[in-house]
Amino acid sequence: MSTLNRRASNIILAGIIIGMIAGGLCGWFFGERMVSVKWVGDLFLNALKMVIVPLIVASMIVGISSLGDLRKLGRTGAWTLVYFLSTSGISVIIGIILVNIIRPGVGMSIAGMEAPETVLSKELSLTSVILGMIPENIFDAAARNDVLPLIVFSLFFGGILTTLGERGRPVLAFFEAVNDVVMKMVHLIMYFAPLGVFALIAYRLGKAGGGGLFWMELAKLLKYALTVITGLLIHGVFVLPIILWVLGRRNPARYAFNMGNALTTAFSTASSSATLPLTMECAEEKNSVSNRAASFVLPLGATVNMDGTALYEAVAAIFIAQAYGVPLAFPQQGDIFITATLAAIGAAGIPEAGLVTMVIVLKSVGLPLEGIGLLLSIDWFLDRFRTTVNVWGDSVGAAIIDRLESGYSSSTTAADHT
Ligand code: ASP
Repeated sequence: MSTLNRRASNIILAGIIIGMIAGGLCGWFFGERMVSVKWVGDLFLNALKMVIVPLIVASMIVGISSLGDLRKLGRTGAWTLVYFLSTSGISVIIGIILVNIIRPGVGMSIAGMEAPETVLSKELSLTSVILGMIPENIFDAAARNDVLPLIVFSLFFGGILTTLGERGRPVLAFFEAVNDVVMKMVHLIMYFAPLGVFALIAYRLGKAGGGGLFWMELAKLLKYALTVITGLLIHGVFVLPIILWVLGRRNPARYAFNMGNALTTAFSTASSSATLPLTMECAEEKNSVSNRAASFVLPLGATVNMDGTALYEAVAAIFIAQAYGVPLAFPQQGDIFITATLAAIGAAGIPEAGLVTMVIVLKSVGLPLEGIGLLLSIDWFLDRFRTTVNVWGDSVGAAIIDRLESGYSSSTTAADHT
């Protein structure tokens, strides 16, 4: 497979960081005038989204087929689920502890709050999530870039393909080639990333009215924003790296540096799904995670594993309760723990999806949905931090599953030989 040379990749990372800073400065000082660069950011986003469908389908089919045995899929799946649920759970607990200590919602003004239209119009239930996983038409799901049904289809297809033996070889070779082509496309798109992230950040800050207005909005919710960001930092800088070090046997700093292009893009796009091509590229090619583990854990993680979103859902719900003066006893905080985890699983990997699924959390403890109105003005900003942690959580998961997987394969191979 063609590999983007490490030097070029590091130069791109430097370019992205410069793009983010320049975008922030331009958006801050030129305000609404920067809305005019939106199309450049959209071009970058479109390019990333354009490769998602072929990337997921080809790489999952290749990855699953290389497992060689469907029973291994069950084992990998079970470990992945354990990892997803336990790390999301830990991050929610961090959020709940912090928001109870800092109490950012006490004394907030709730006058004239309204629930946003997008939030109220969305009907969310567990059955609708499950139903959505099996689409009636796979092309329709692909046309909407709906990742979960594509994952289910590819797993199903790849799993069956392995049972065909020799007859399945040409089909597998076809998808291997598609996978290589798409990766090459991702490399080329990456050259455009510095300009893309510049435009995305400049546009978003410009749309918020520039630095002055943004700062005024942020100041009103500063304690809340700091609670969320502190929680995300604890989870992203301490908890996940320790897990990576202990279970994945990787140097967390080096692993994070190698994920740099994906993490900075996650921050700039606020979308785990749009970042997925880069997450896979960095994990497989710079961190040498096997295609088997990366192609299974990363697409699934981009839609269902959202540590950052889970933490934010819990903090936001308790913040709203504090603002409305609703006391939440221990059992209710337990409800928040469970529903925040579920709401994060249900959230799509797109900007501000967490705001919509927060309805589940608020309803579970009877909090007013209008409370969401409190958070709206700076949600786009916090979204970037949580999306970065979401992508980081997926990346750590890929390394851990890779290690568990390879340990299992070598032990079974050894056992096969004895
Ligand atoms: N934007 C987040 C993501 O794509 C989801 C959310 O929390 O809104 O991961």
